[in-house]
Amino acid sequence: MPLNEYLTLYPPAFVITALVLGLVIGSFLNVVIWRLPKMLEREWRMQAHDVLGLPGETPLPTYNLMLPHSQCPHCAHRIRAWENIPVLSYLLLRGRCSNCAAPISKRYPLTELACGLLSAFIAWHFGFGWPACLLLVLTWGLLAMSLIDAEHQLLPDVLVLPLLWLGLIVNSFDLFVPLHDALWGAVAGYMALWSVFWLFKLITGKDGIGHGDFKLLAMLGAWGGWQILPLTILLSSLVGAILGVILLRLRDAKTSTPIPFGPYLAIAGWIALLWGGQITDFYWQFVGFK
Ligand SMILES: [Zn+2]
Repeated sequence: MPLNEYLTLYPPAFVITALVLGLVIGSFLNVVIWRLPKMLEREWRMQAHDVLGLPGETPLPTYNLMLPHSQCPHCAHRIRAWENIPVLSYLLLRGRCSNCAAPISKRYPLTELACGLLSAFIAWHFGFGWPACLLLVLTWGLLAMSLIDAEHQLLPDVLVLPLLWLGLIVNSFDLFVPLHDALWGAVAGYMALWSVFWLFKLITGKDGIGHGDFKLLAMLGAWGGWQILPLTILLSSLVGAILGVILLRLRDAKTSTPIPFGPYLAIAGWIALLWGGQITDFYWQFVGFK
């Protein structure tokens, strides 16, 4: 039996495949989350160097998603294949480097686990088919963006823009919404936060939202159509308020630390894409219009 028929006929097989794939992709996302901001910083540094006409900088060693090979940040011990199995290796190594016993951050297995579980959930929710496969790609992208933004207050264009285009392309096949709705979703998503940005700037003289957030909301609009935008903005404020309180409790953060908006938008957009219709129906029933 061909693989696609098998995955359609046996939903649990698709869920397990997505779980394993999600764990492996999560391991790769750890590399992206760790290295991409550093790669971008190097690039910007070199460009600034060029623009300012400064004397040639000493060439830096190769640094990309593949090279140098992963190593322990404490003892430079090269991570071998068996030490790189998602979640499992962390448990086998009991969270320590096999060479110098320095603790390995919990964020690595947690990212892998989150990626695996979210992927399994998408597979279970949609069943095997194009919508599930494409939403897996979107989910992985949103996860990487959220974690980079949370740490660096940066939403890299190289992640956001290709996914914006992908949203428009998949909807040109009417996969989630008609192309017309997707196009206006992208435009309205960008304009909504762009207007808030300028209004806030005119009134307070400060930058309230980052430009990456405009593009992220445009990207979500390209996938779910303009219809998901009001709910996405509403939910992101709600998610922001809830997580904000939790984080403040946990970290005792100062109020001046910039709070990235990207992760909240990403979570809200993901929820709106999956359940937007049900949530709005429920709301209208609740207020008695239906
Ligand atoms: Zn080590």
